[in-house]
Amino acid sequence: MECMHTRSDTAGLVELEERVRQDRQDLCQPAANWVPSRSCNGQKVVDIVVVGAGMCGLVAHHALIAGGMRNILHIDRSPEGREGPWVTFARMNTLRSPKNLTGPAFGHAALTFRAWFRAQYGEARWEALDKIDRPMWMEYLRWYRKVLDLPIQNGLELQRVTPEDGLLRVDLGGQAAPILARKLVLATAATARDSQLCQGLSSAFRDSTGPTPPMTLISQSCPANAWQ
Ligand SMILES: Cc1cc2nc3c(=O)[nH]c(=O)nc-3n(C[C@H](O)[C@H](O)[C@H](O)COP(=O)(O)OP(=O)(O)OC[C@H]3O[C@@H](n4cnc5c(N)ncnc54)[C@H](O)[C@@H]3O)c2cc1C
Repeated sequence: MECMHTRSDTAGLVELEERVRQDRQDLCQPAANWVPSRSCNGQKVVDIVVVGAGMCGLVAHHALIAGGMRNILHIDRSPEGREGPWVTFARMNTLRSPKNLTGPAFGHAALTFRAWFRAQYGEARWEALDKIDRPMWMEYLRWYRKVLDLPIQNGLELQRVTPEDGLLRVDLGGQAAPILARKLVLATAATARDSQLCQGLSSAFRDSTGPTPPMTLISQSCPANAWQ
């Protein structure tokens, strides 16, 4: 079940969001872009394409912008707020990890699940909490994306990656124009092994036992200097 907030819960969260903003300002984050822009045959090159906006994609994006890489295209094929397994195909009711792991906080205490939970429900409920509820974890990840104001485009799917002029040509589903990118971050977890991604790739990239993991697909279709 999704969490419902009372008035005072919301006030705690607003306070925490202000703390996140202040901490980031003190740390000069997100840092200004330092990567020289590049074009290829008149097409603007994207520095980094991040695929997947589950928790690993979110923290990767956070780390990149903290380091001054701002020319990023971040996509996820799932609808916004439904990335990853948490409110889709997962069946276990809770996370498996202990509640006090810092997850995608990336060194920011105010971005931990613990800070988010305590801001809304207080210390006593934090102490009483055993394992984190699955939908609640999704709600936390939605908040993480919102408070960091991460620009992510949902409803776009990585379908194919091929080398082109020393760059990577990234083909997305639907009407989206192909992208030329310097780097690709695959934060697609096990879901990238499914047939949807592999259907977009030539059969030469599959092995006889089924879909090949994404890193193998990339390493087979692109020269080593494109992925090492
Ligand atoms: C019930 C349950 C409990 C768990 N408990 C824990 C735990 O306690 N601790 C722990 O570390 N892990 C736990 N896991 C494992 C958990 O799934 C992963 O740790 C976590 O989801 C990994 O995050 P991720 O960002 O790598 O992948 P995901 O959260 O799976 O996100 C991947 C995203 O990539 C997107 N994507 C995939 N392919 C494409 C494509 N071709 N184009 C565009 N987008 C694409 C998907 O839509 C998805 O949103 C648990 C899993 C379940 C089901």
